[in-house]
Amino acid sequence: MPLSAPSTMKEFNGMFPDEGACVEYLFLLRWPDGFQCPKCGTAAAGIVTTRALVRCKAGHQISVTSGTAMHRSKQKLWDWFYAVFLVSTLTPGMSTLQFQKQMGLTRYETAFQFLHKLRSALVDPVRQRLKGEVEVDEAYVGGPETIVAGQPMEKATVVSAIEVVRWEEPGTDKEGNPIIVRRFRAGRIRMALMPNTKQATLVPWVAANVEPDTLLVTNGTAVYKPLEKQGYRFERHVANRYGKATGDYLPLTGLIVSNLKAKLLGTYRGGVSRKHLQAYLNEFVFIFNRRFWRGPAFSRCLRLLVNDGAPLEYEALYAVGTEGGWVHPSGSPAGETQGEMPPAGAS
Ligand SMILES: [Zn+2]
Repeated sequence: MPLSAPSTMKEFNGMFPDEGACVEYLFLLRWPDGFQCPKCGTAAAGIVTTRALVRCKAGHQISVTSGTAMHRSKQKLWDWFYAVFLVSTLTPGMSTLQFQKQMGLTRYETAFQFLHKLRSALVDPVRQRLKGEVEVDEAYVGGPETIVAGQPMEKATVVSAIEVVRWEEPGTDKEGNPIIVRRFRAGRIRMALMPNTKQATLVPWVAANVEPDTLLVTNGTAVYKPLEKQGYRFERHVANRYGKATGDYLPLTGLIVSNLKAKLLGTYRGGVSRKHLQAYLNEFVFIFNRRFWRGPAFSRCLRLLVNDGAPLEYEALYAVGTEGGWVHPSGSPAGETQGEMPPAGAS
């Protein structure tokens, strides 16, 4: 039976009144088929909730957090759980400052590290590629209009792939006669920060994020042309000389990218530096793709932290963007676990 997950603050408080409840939940999440001691193979004899330990029948003590991003963290498990709840279930996302306040952390630095560690876990390594009909477009994010607080961000190139979900449903026309209404909405999305808009950069990203035999809806650019040979189909929309807006051809991209820009401006007050932009994109994509499942997003996010065998060190995080430094997972190769698509018409 899948573990239940909180989707409201009230549920969260009910499920996790204290540290012990988090230890027990993590135990069930990590060993859903029953604990087996990694040292001797025997089952669990008990859990020491005060020390977050599992004791096996032979007396070995195994940390519930061993091998996870939470291991040896200064933060209590409850703090991690609360942070996961905040990050995974609050649709508008939040700034480091808001997060610091919510978590009651005294140091901004701690909040920053904590939040980024969480965001870095938001890319699921086993996701599956988008398919069917997918809008692909490049957008320029940031720039002069984002100079508010913090450091201004240069214009950054973001490529996005958005699944188009279409369906028909019965409706009525103006006279009240029954007709079939065609509707569409966004399915799953992927976004990545790109160093440039060259073919050698964009083509591999699309191939890693979208399955062959997909209908790619793009602007008039020839940059994606090599994908034709790899089995992708195309619907190209060339802007006319009056500069008809992309939104007319790629309606979902127009909507979602302006939503992203608004969030970068509003939630983060423009204070997103280029080197951390991919982390914000990861969060945006994560929340967007789970917008119909607030509860499941919580356990999903927690599971990603747990399955992260090589936890990211804070030092590496600070080296983001520098040569040899850690790179935020870009969401590629990507795709999601199957069976997560919301029912058509849910939007
Ligand atoms: Zn043992």
